[in-house]
Amino acid sequence: MSENIIPGIKAYEDEMVAIRRHLHAHPELSLQEFATSQFVADKLSEWGYQVTREIGKTGLVGTLKKGTSDKAIGLRADMDALPIHETTGLSYASTRPGVMHACGHDGHTTILLSAARYLASAECEFNGTVHLIFQPAEEAIGGADLMIRDGLFSRFPCDAVYALHNRPGLPAGKLGFYAGHFMASADTVKIILNGKGGHGAHPAGTIDPIVVAASLVMSLQTIVSRNVTPGETAIVTVGTLHAGIASNVIPETAEMELTVRAMKPEIRDLLIQRIYTLATSTAQSFGATATVEVYESYPVLTNSEKETADARALAIEVFGPQAVEESIRPSTGSEDFSFMLEKRPGTYFLLGNDGEEKQGCFLHNSGYDFNDGIISVGATFFVSLVRQHCR
Ligand SMILES: [Zn+2]
Ligand SMILES: [Zn+2]
Repeated sequence: MSENIIPGIKAYEDEMVAIRRHLHAHPELSLQEFATSQFVADKLSEWGYQVTREIGKTGLVGTLKKGTSDKAIGLRADMDALPIHETTGLSYASTRPGVMHACGHDGHTTILLSAARYLASAECEFNGTVHLIFQPAEEAIGGADLMIRDGLFSRFPCDAVYALHNRPGLPAGKLGFYAGHFMASADTVKIILNGKGGHGAHPAGTIDPIVVAASLVMSLQTIVSRNVTPGETAIVTVGTLHAGIASNVIPETAEMELTVRAMKPEIRDLLIQRIYTLATSTAQSFGATATVEVYESYPVLTNSEKETADARALAIEVFGPQAVEESIRPSTGSEDFSFMLEKRPGTYFLLGNDGEEKQGCFLHNSGYDFNDGIISVGATFFVSLVRQHCR
């Protein structure tokens, strides 16, 4: 695969590895990517990009036009880190306790910078406009949506948008594509059960919200097994359950928070509707009441058919058929690039992250590290996408 990397990109690979490690050592949480966005903006300006800051708070777009064509393509990288305390012991490990690039967004940012540098170089020809979208807050809040609300696609019109994510467990540099519903929607539901508190020794006359909660937790598990069509992907997880402060006191309320995931919009709607019905009717059956609050997070990520097929064919053309992993299946993870794919056609694809030895650490693990060996592969493919689109 390394023989297919664009030589002009390979030439400055060491500098890009240094950038990746600098970003890794200085991670910033969602919407706090101040130093990271400044760093990216400085590089893009140095290479001749028109840089627009503060799109989606700490997000930015670098724009470069070559030739006369009206064609325009968007390439996106995410910049934020996670509230995890790094345990890798690497020489370039996080210098910020409790904050870590454990999802490889330091690598994604570097890959797009590497592509940016080559696209701006005299030896790279294309005919059209590239918008390099460096987004904040993928891990929380939904920076992609914030950028769209700030006029991303009206100010920087793109015919299509592309993004990648590194994937531990997939051999280094292998690319994975999937057309259709690829990543799950993710919503949070908060349920507050209101009972009637009292003395633990005198339960008659009280309405114990803990008993209501226990019953509800069990009935919520029937949604996936009894309401969703077998074979469809759906997840209802009760992630928190809080009630009570003393063994001899029946509390007034019990609270729980759920993560709800689906691979199709209609399944997403079904899950939310059933949760609401079970919560309110279970509470009612015990004489309690339920308040159900739904916090919609990321929608289902759907890769468009044509752009995905074209990207896959391009990967085979650039790197050979052995470079494309054919066993990619949808994931119950979620990803806010889904907001951009709701507005524009495009594809979100995977790039294998395994090193010589299998890391054994998945994303969001305190022992995870991005594989520097795939920076030039990702950059070569981004550049190839631009050349394919902007002929
Ligand atoms: Zn992540
Ligand atoms: Zn990520």
